[in-house]
Amino acid sequence: AKSAGGNRFELADPEADARAITRHGLTTALPTALDRGEFFIEYQPLVHLGDGTVHGAEALVRWLHPQHGVLGPDRFIPLAERTGLIVPLGRWVLEEAVRQARSWQERHDRSGPLRINVNLSPCQLTHPGLVADTVAILEQAGLEPDALCLEVTESALIGADDSLLKPLRRLAEMGVDIALDDFGTGYSNLANLRRLPVRVLKLDRSFTQSMQQYPADPVDLKIVEGIVSLAHSLDLAVTVEGVETGAQAEQLRILGCDTAQGWYYARPGPPERLHELSLLDATG
Ligand code: C2E
Ligand code: CA
Ligand code: CA
Ligand code: CA
Repeated sequence: AKSAGGNRFELADPEADARAITRHGLTTALPTALDRGEFFIEYQPLVHLGDGTVHGAEALVRWLHPQHGVLGPDRFIPLAERTGLIVPLGRWVLEEAVRQARSWQERHDRSGPLRINVNLSPCQLTHPGLVADTVAILEQAGLEPDALCLEVTESALIGADDSLLKPLRRLAEMGVDIALDDFGTGYSNLANLRRLPVRVLKLDRSFTQSMQQYPADPVDLKIVEGIVSLAHSLDLAVTVEGVETGAQAEQLRILGCDTAQGWYYARPGPPERLHELSLLDATG
């Protein structure tokens, strides 16, 4: 039995080989990809569930790899976090997205500012330059801090001590919104929310998926209802992600969610896409 087991593991697995080669290729190419200008950003609109108007857009980074084509963030963000590249990469994303938001504002006469959401890795949170970099980037682009929302995953803030929360508090005091991303997946103590400088809960896609049936599972409905009422009682807005159908949008609207994001409205795309969809003009 022992040798059979040994043999099994010695068998060639071409797929595993390919994965290992790919992984190795990415590891060596990643550190210089930023200098080579291989990253780009797609934007996905966030809409108000009440009237369908655009609230803002989330910046989602992609890597145009010379051999492998376009790679999604799940393929390289973990690697960037392990190698520390996430700090300069994250700063580049912020700079690029803030500049884009400013240019949207300049091209459209809007009553309120179009908001821009940018994801923040836990490694960026612990980096001492976060607050100063963010201030400098906003000032250079001429974007008001309250047009920026930084998304931090719930898991990154579970059990976070004050040293981690301090930069977020400073940013929140300046007017930057902090959103708790992937909310509902991290088993965080709901009472703990009061401690966090958070303005927005982004309900994880798994909740949206459970609204696929109409009517949805009554237990799931109760859970979302509970989260929304708790969030609103704490003055937090609720965004839902992964909305793929009108039925999901309708149920989540009835449950009191504020804004939504998903393929039902628009897939992530180049910045021009927001104009093509006339989404920006909707609130004019
Ligand atoms: P996330 O922040 O939860 O972003 C939402 C993900 O859901 C995005 O995947 C988006 O393309 C996808 N999505 C949007 N609408 C729908 C829908 O209707 N259905 C489905 N099935 N999916 C939808 P993406 O772009 O692959 O990004 C994956 C994750 O990578 C993000 O999850 C975020 O955690 C991370 N990420 C993306 N950009 C950055 C970045 O600049 N910095 C950092 N640190 N992380 C990033
Ligand atoms: Ca996000
Ligand atoms: Ca999310
Ligand atoms: Ca996610």
